[in-house]
Amino acid sequence: MSLLVKNVRLVDPAQNLDGPGSLLVVEGVVAAIGADLEGDPLAAGADILDGGGAVLAPGFVDLHVHFREPGQTRKESIESGSRAAVAGGFTSVCAMANTKPVNDSVAITEMMLSRAEKAGLCRYFPIGTVSREMKGEELADMGTLKAAGCVAFSDDGMPIANSALMRRALEYTRWLEVPVVAHEEDRDLAGKGYMHEGAVSASLGCLGIPAAAEEAMVARDLVLAEHTGGHLHLAHLSTKGSLRMVREAKARGLNVTCEVTPHHFALSDRELMKFDSDYKMNPPLRTEADIQAVLEALADGTVDAIATDHAPHAWDDKEVELPIAAFGVIGLETALPLTLELLVNRKVISLARALALLSWKPAQVFHLDRQGLGSLRSGAPADLVLFDPEAKVQVDRAFIQSKSYNTPFKGWSLPGKVLGTWVGGKRVWG
Ligand SMILES: [Zn+2]
Repeated sequence: MSLLVKNVRLVDPAQNLDGPGSLLVVEGVVAAIGADLEGDPLAAGADILDGGGAVLAPGFVDLHVHFREPGQTRKESIESGSRAAVAGGFTSVCAMANTKPVNDSVAITEMMLSRAEKAGLCRYFPIGTVSREMKGEELADMGTLKAAGCVAFSDDGMPIANSALMRRALEYTRWLEVPVVAHEEDRDLAGKGYMHEGAVSASLGCLGIPAAAEEAMVARDLVLAEHTGGHLHLAHLSTKGSLRMVREAKARGLNVTCEVTPHHFALSDRELMKFDSDYKMNPPLRTEADIQAVLEALADGTVDAIATDHAPHAWDDKEVELPIAAFGVIGLETALPLTLELLVNRKVISLARALALLSWKPAQVFHLDRQGLGSLRSGAPADLVLFDPEAKVQVDRAFIQSKSYNTPFKGWSLPGKVLGTWVGGKRVWG
């Protein structure tokens, strides 16, 4: 029932902790952390794991995954998605509502929760829809959905075009104390675009999605958040202008948070010159200047979370011409390696800050910290990830646990091998 993990670099951003030590788990919770716990009476009879100097951190919290169940389990199921999560070091995932049918009812929420419990891998937090049937017309029964276990509300995949509906959603969720997660896209400006609109799309003769399609909606929703006091969480921000507006809004004290994805800080629209649909996602890959803006926003605290937007698609959704291929990429298994390679090793942010953006900060955004998640504090559920920040992983089919393989990082060799993942003290990976 007890586990002592010794000889590790303990990193817990919630406690400003980064140093050598050991951690003791008793009955599923963190019982103690310290330099040497082998003599501790609580550790008597515990299994001992020598971490060999690897990093032990709070399990990661992903605010944005698509697990495709119900409705499209050939792409992913709650079980296969959960396995991809724990393989990537994620112990909690928040699952978007655009399943088939969408998660706008207690019956769907309960079905999702029972499938996740049966899988027995990571913690699974459903996100309910903002609007009934995700039609963008009437509000869903958000109070009832929250009581059933939904931790946030979003029509992600679809923007909320109706400003009055968005205003009411922010007013109502303010009272419920949950965020509205906005997929910001003006569909008229986006048109039939399938990559970023700019010099590259012009040279390729491809239809583009302008930065303004995202920024116009970010601007509208910041106005609505200011007038309502509701908590606006902006999903997968991709442009310099969006991040500048969020920085200003935060400085003025608005109740706004935001996330960025690894693919948006790793890749630019120049990749589309390969005409490979693994580079097609929404929002699209942007320019080098936008990548720089994302890096600055990660460094200065404008960004609250790194989220994957894990969006599995079967090969036949992708192996078609670029204009008609599905939007989206998987991301759970590659998030830590990309973060280590592109943010930590290139000295954009420290390891502790990178881990905060993967665990403690996202846990706070969706109030999962109230359940003790995202930290290694004594008494917290023992949701842990043990990883070697230098050991290389090779992104190939065997490395990916997801049912789908639509990753733009095929063939990449990256640092950051997950050695073990624990949820509530139970080893679920490694
Ligand atoms: Zn989205």
